[in-house]
Amino acid sequence: MNDFRTERLKDSEQAMLTCTMCGFCKSVCPSFKEAGWDTSAARGRVILSYGLVQGDLEPDEEVMESLYSCTTCMDCYRRCPSKVDVVGIVENARRDLVAGGRMLPKHRDVVAKVRGRGNPYGEEASVPETLGREPRPAPLAYFAGCTAAYRANEIAGAALSILDKLEEDITVLDEGCCGSVMGRIGCPEEELVPMMRANVERIAALGVETLLLSCAGCYRMFKEEYPQHVELPFRVLHFAEYLAAKEPPLRPCPRRIAYHDPCHLGRHAGVYDAPRDVIKMIPEAEPVEMANARERSRCCGGGGGVRSAFPEAAKRMASARLEDTDADLLVTACPFCVTNLRAAGAEVTDLTVLVDKLL
Ligand code: SF4
Ligand code: SF4
Repeated sequence: MNDFRTERLKDSEQAMLTCTMCGFCKSVCPSFKEAGWDTSAARGRVILSYGLVQGDLEPDEEVMESLYSCTTCMDCYRRCPSKVDVVGIVENARRDLVAGGRMLPKHRDVVAKVRGRGNPYGEEASVPETLGREPRPAPLAYFAGCTAAYRANEIAGAALSILDKLEEDITVLDEGCCGSVMGRIGCPEEELVPMMRANVERIAALGVETLLLSCAGCYRMFKEEYPQHVELPFRVLHFAEYLAAKEPPLRPCPRRIAYHDPCHLGRHAGVYDAPRDVIKMIPEAEPVEMANARERSRCCGGGGGVRSAFPEAAKRMASARLEDTDADLLVTACPFCVTNLRAAGAEVTDLTVLVDKLL
């Protein structure tokens, strides 16, 4: 007997019924291009989710793989003539799966680390200890995020170095995971909202007026998801937006530079111009666009929990994305994209690292 309960997925039933099964989403879905099966495409995920809601399907291994190999890139929504919210369907399905005690082993491990240590890597040191600075009252705060603090730490180092060179009165934060990893896996809002409140309270206690983030995933959380649950007494800026407004004096870099739009900064949060404006400020640089850019940017394959659960598939998606450019240098604005594109052999750098080198 199928005892799987679809509480959240029922909220997406109308969206599922809106799908005309036209298959246009298959032309853009990175996981479909990588795997080649309909169950790995947006349309297939809609069909499986409908089967779950109707009680016709059980969430077996193949259904789990279909729902968790979606990078939540939202390119299907852009392409879909009926504007089916596939990411909403997938994320509601994941919430029901987690509520029913079903998680992929890798995600179970990640969630346990966030619950136990406050970060998905299980690191014991706090973010301020890792960055070598103490939180203090300041108008400007840098929220590094777990990946830039504990793994791609050249990004956090570059961000702080830039702020020092520009003589900003800044503070680091005694931050906990922003909740993005937990949210993408499907943990419930009841667990995420206290994490959000704790971060906001710690930031507000330092009198912060502006919060700077260098991670697209953290930025999407603070910009789009936190305000749905918590009042933010400060403004939220991605580092690219800060740099574009600041117009720092940069040294020349005579290279053809392409920018890869992180899905969570671009399609999810609508930030396309600021990073390009920063690249245009670099003397002697030649900004070039990738074959699919801005709203049409192809996903690197690293988001939505895919890199942790299916690293080889994530790497293949990154390789496909790299076919979109022959630039001398690929720049992006997210530690997840940097890490995943590098795994596929790209010379890719974060915008903060490039700017710090040229400042
Ligand atoms: S493009 Fe939209 S309507 Fe067409 S199959 Fe995909 S999700 Fe359904
Ligand atoms: S969000 Fe991206 S990976 Fe997921 S179904 Fe849509 S296009 Fe495919």
